[in-house]
Amino acid sequence: MTTDKSSPKTPTCVRCGRTYDGSGDWNINYRHGVTVGYLCPDDQTPGDNAEAVINEATGAGTVHEVQPGSPEHAEAVVQHVYAMTQEVLREFLERVVNSAFGMALDPHALADQAVERISGTIGDGGNPEGLRRVVQEMLQEMLDEMHGGESS
Ligand SMILES: [Zn+2]
Repeated sequence: MTTDKSSPKTPTCVRCGRTYDGSGDWNINYRHGVTVGYLCPDDQTPGDNAEAVINEATGAGTVHEVQPGSPEHAEAVVQHVYAMTQEVLREFLERVVNSAFGMALDPHALADQAVERISGTIGDGGNPEGLRRVVQEMLQEMLDEMHGGESS
């Protein structure tokens, strides 16, 4: 059995897979505070560039690269996991609203979805069980809050 120690992945272009070599004007995409993708100069569309410029101008993209292992990084990871979990829940609620029929809320399915998504952005840290536990706790907290707000 191979144990992936979640070594920091070598950044590659999300479109062509080229390895980031530090040269040229690469776009780095951030999502909820962590790097989720690199885009090589050849694959940047005018839209991507406009977005990058806007982000820079508005400060939306001024998330500094944090060193893995640093407290800032740990914090960014937690924020990312939280935001992604929230995103999955929000999307589910939107589907419920748009559905003529009620949809059963399955926290386990939502947690699975969130874990899958996070694995695709920052990875599971080599500990999928632990990540799932964290996600499930966050999800439960969000649901508890919702129920608290709904009670009459
Ligand atoms: Zn590329």
